[in-house]
Amino acid sequence: MPFDTHNHTQFSFDADMQLEEARNKAAQQGLNLILTEHYDLNERQEDGSPVTFPIEDYFSTYAPYRGDHLLLGIELGLDDRDSYIKRNREIAEHHPFDMVIGSVHNIRDYDICSDESRNFLSKPDFFAHYLIYAEHTIHKNPYIDTFAHIDYPCRYLSYSDNVLRYGDFPVLIDNFLYALIHRDICLEINLRLLDQEAFRSGFSGIARRYQELGGKYVTIGGDNHTPETIGEKYKLGRDLARACGLQPVYFKNRKRVIDD
Ligand SMILES: [Zn+2]
Ligand SMILES: [Zn+2]
Repeated sequence: MPFDTHNHTQFSFDADMQLEEARNKAAQQGLNLILTEHYDLNERQEDGSPVTFPIEDYFSTYAPYRGDHLLLGIELGLDDRDSYIKRNREIAEHHPFDMVIGSVHNIRDYDICSDESRNFLSKPDFFAHYLIYAEHTIHKNPYIDTFAHIDYPCRYLSYSDNVLRYGDFPVLIDNFLYALIHRDICLEINLRLLDQEAFRSGFSGIARRYQELGGKYVTIGGDNHTPETIGEKYKLGRDLARACGLQPVYFKNRKRVIDD
């Protein structure tokens, strides 16, 4: 069974999915799961504390279920500042994760999904800033296995058209993709927006270019926070990978495995 490589359970600050319900839904859908709980040192919760989870508890709670159908990973919020890089790298390397996802949810202290950030800049300015930062954080955090949702801001911005298109930022997107390829980091096909034709088409253009530049591997992630969404759009991700000539993979013990 193929893997959905991006799932949040009760260990993530913004999810309360129970493992049992996640496993049941995944089994029904014919999927295996990698759990990837949020760890964002540069993101603040309502009480001002950073977004973390008790990693030892996570491993001990889920150890009995870890195996061929369930792997244990983490989604690290990336930052380009040295103190964050050092701590994130330690988290990734000093715990026995199967897979480490790297994400940009914040541009330093600027929260991409918060109200204040919307329409703060024009769309071209926002994406130029975001894409340069994403490329930069990859070079600075080369230990990650896959880079999640390059189209993350598209979910939250409030321009009249939030689609990120290759043709609008060819040089910046090429630089971002070269950073992934050069560091042997996968591009994630995040399923959140894939059921909307405009976003699917925008992301396809980026995935196709990744393949043209020499990228081979993708991870497919539902970014599920509830059991209901597990499997819902998975086929769209597989179809997109096939159409772009890209190979789905997952990670076990931090090693890339072909996911046929
Ligand atoms: Zn994320
Ligand atoms: Zn996520």
